[in-house]
Amino acid sequence: MTESRRAAFVDRDGTIIVDAHYISRPEQVRLVPGAADALRRLNEAGVPVVVVTNQSGIARGTITESEYARVAERVELLVREAGASIDATYYCPHHPAITGPCDCRKPGTGMFEQAADEMELDLRGSLYVGDKWRDVAPGIALGGRAILVASAETPADDLARAERDAEVAGSLGDAVIAFLSESAR
Ligand SMILES: [Mg+2]
Ligand SMILES: [Zn+2]
Repeated sequence: MTESRRAAFVDRDGTIIVDAHYISRPEQVRLVPGAADALRRLNEAGVPVVVVTNQSGIARGTITESEYARVAERVELLVREAGASIDATYYCPHHPAITGPCDCRKPGTGMFEQAADEMELDLRGSLYVGDKWRDVAPGIALGGRAILVASAETPADDLARAERDAEVAGSLGDAVIAFLSESAR
């Protein structure tokens, strides 16, 4: 029997890279300062880093699947150059108003459940971190640790809700440190 591992589910835009709204070109990718260091801490602790991202720009026709793929490659490259690594990436290309409802778009839990199946992850023991309420809501639904890290794009309501119903950290690094120290109990 295989033991399932806790993971860190990390939002991409506004959390790992600066949110530039439907990024379509690799040159637009900029890492959030300190984000790669935070991912490296997870790598060193043996916690899989799973990027989970809504990419409704694909449904909207703002970016193509291949543009998305090139941007995702660039994100992985920049993270690698900074000494860290991403273990897997899941994305939802849908938008309910265009492609109809789906199970994967956050705050849905589909991408997290798929990752848990494919990578044998413990959803209850995992970290859910991002700059929107919809990034952390799945963590609450799945019984994990939900921490919002505000970006310039975080709505005030999302922040207030996270302060009330989840947790808030000042940076991805702080969220990771809080998660890793809890897990060491
Ligand atoms: Mg985001
Ligand atoms: Zn979807």
